[in-house]
Amino acid sequence: MAVTRRSLLSASGALASAALVPSAARASASANGARMRRIAVEEAWSIPEHFKALAAVSEGDWNNLDVENVRLLGHGTGPIPINLLDTERRLAEMDSLGIDMQLLSLTSPGVQIFEIETAVALAALANDRLADVVTANPSRFGGLASFAPQDPRRAAKEMERAIHKLKLNGFIVNSHTGNEYLDEAKFWPILEAAEALGRPIYLHPRCPSDGMAAPFRDYRMRAAIWGFQAETGTHAMRLILSGVFDRFPKLQIVLGHMGENIPFHLWRSDNWYKKRASAYPSKLPPSEVMKRNFHITTSGVEHGPALRYTIEVLGAERILWAIDYPYEEMAPAVTFMNSVDIPEAQRSAIYHRNTERLFHVASATGHGGLL
Ligand code: MN
Repeated sequence: MAVTRRSLLSASGALASAALVPSAARASASANGARMRRIAVEEAWSIPEHFKALAAVSEGDWNNLDVENVRLLGHGTGPIPINLLDTERRLAEMDSLGIDMQLLSLTSPGVQIFEIETAVALAALANDRLADVVTANPSRFGGLASFAPQDPRRAAKEMERAIHKLKLNGFIVNSHTGNEYLDEAKFWPILEAAEALGRPIYLHPRCPSDGMAAPFRDYRMRAAIWGFQAETGTHAMRLILSGVFDRFPKLQIVLGHMGENIPFHLWRSDNWYKKRASAYPSKLPPSEVMKRNFHITTSGVEHGPALRYTIEVLGAERILWAIDYPYEEMAPAVTFMNSVDIPEAQRSAIYHRNTERLFHVASATGHGGLL
């Protein structure tokens, strides 16, 4: 192969970038050729006022699964809280791994376990602070806005403010609110606002609602080991079967954790939908709703067979890269996405192109990112 000026330049660029990333990530990056922009979309973040409000709730004797998690977080001083609060520390690690950008969102359960006025005020404060973080580093951070589903009409107003005034990228909801789910008509102003604004709602996990909590109280099953996907997958399936996407056909929902197990069950859901179509309000079978109204992310699932299967079922254009920092570590997420055996066009779609399109993140313009 002839050595051109271009190949020399890209070779020297690869050497320069190699100094920035650890050896495991570097080896796979060079094996896959050109450096791709890396945007992670489910990245938890918080503010001291949020920790204060969480601490107040956790001091009571409320027998709630999320409160058990909140008690583990403590009062904002352990390693997870420090990583949630410290943007400089986060940026330094992003630099060392060649992570161009993170879309930040208020950590679960967000404002959804607070009484209504606290929740509304704290969501607005968190969104203001998040906008400050993004404004200070617009090429490195984007943001998903919080709102208080406890008051759907004020939530819709905050969603509008978050996009039009604060220029955030989308929204996050931590599954149920007061044991109620977004398919219920009282929440439709939220779905309507997201559709009208053309921005997705990230349906993020929290622990199972009271109605399904009992079996999850044993063996610490409430969280990532099983409870999160049981709760969040159930929420997503309620949305799918309820027919809300017949009413809001352009609404986009994002599920983390490789789709909260829905892709693996989808054939069976379709099969039973077809046998009993009149029993389900949705006009479309689950797989058609998934491929029209959902995207999924790789957060916390660094498993090649699961990703290749999900690409086959949903299409690579429906999949986004995510880390789930600081609950998961950045380095293995980068190593996985650099090295997983998929075509390079799919890798770049998942690493950044789908996110740029879905969350309205400006495309890198040559000098963007780290290189
Ligand atoms: Mn998460």
